[in-house]
Amino acid sequence: MSILFRLIILLSCVVLVQQSANEVVFVEAELIDPEMPALPRNIRKVVVNDQKLFAFRILPVKGDLADWRTKFSDSEMIQFVFGLRRQARLQASKVDLKPSADSPDTPFLVYVGSDMGLGGPAVASNFRIMATSDDGRQIRSDSLMVMAPLKIGSSIMQPIDFYNQKYLAPLVAHELFHGLMGDLYGTKMIEMKARSYSRKGHAADRITDEFLAFIEGTAEAMELVALEVHASEVSNTLIDYPHLTDELRDLFVDSRGND
Ligand SMILES: [Zn+2]
Repeated sequence: MSILFRLIILLSCVVLVQQSANEVVFVEAELIDPEMPALPRNIRKVVVNDQKLFAFRILPVKGDLADWRTKFSDSEMIQFVFGLRRQARLQASKVDLKPSADSPDTPFLVYVGSDMGLGGPAVASNFRIMATSDDGRQIRSDSLMVMAPLKIGSSIMQPIDFYNQKYLAPLVAHELFHGLMGDLYGTKMIEMKARSYSRKGHAADRITDEFLAFIEGTAEAMELVALEVHASEVSNTLIDYPHLTDELRDLFVDSRGND
């Protein structure tokens, strides 16, 4: 399947589906050693149909998680991107791509916390998960949204800080677009990432390589479309966070200046 054809599929995914069907399910990894971080080698595995899967626990939706679910369902931008992902999954299944285990009805698995590092919000694709609840519900997905804090220098931004600054929706939308590429490209995403060699990230003032540029450029471009459609959900002022170090404040101002 050529990249162009997949992009055409991607761009044809403009039909919004029922928002109520965009179910978010909160999960956490079942750790082998609960004192250690949730790195892949520390997550319990289960074997299903000869396939090794990461074991996750479906969490009851209460307290903070209930608040997060409300924030997700209240955000038209996030719901819009969930809808696009479901369309992409539908298109992928129609043309027999089947690049991932996810179908249009697979709920979106979300982990909120810092067990998986301090890299900020991200989506893991090709992360073979079997999530199980106490009452026996099982969800098989290859995609996990990680709502992690973001550590830059000596400062840590929590997801709630992004929310309070009106930056959460575009951040989540951007990451979900990475997930959408994972829905369409499946394991090819791993190959693409593996070919990225610059390791320079993708800040506006750096020159990266074509593989990372393609992955990030697609998510950025799609994010811009979502921003245009749902502009009211986003602040156009710089993040103002009392715990920001001078170094970090400079970084935000610098990178904005170079956009
Ligand atoms: Zn990105």
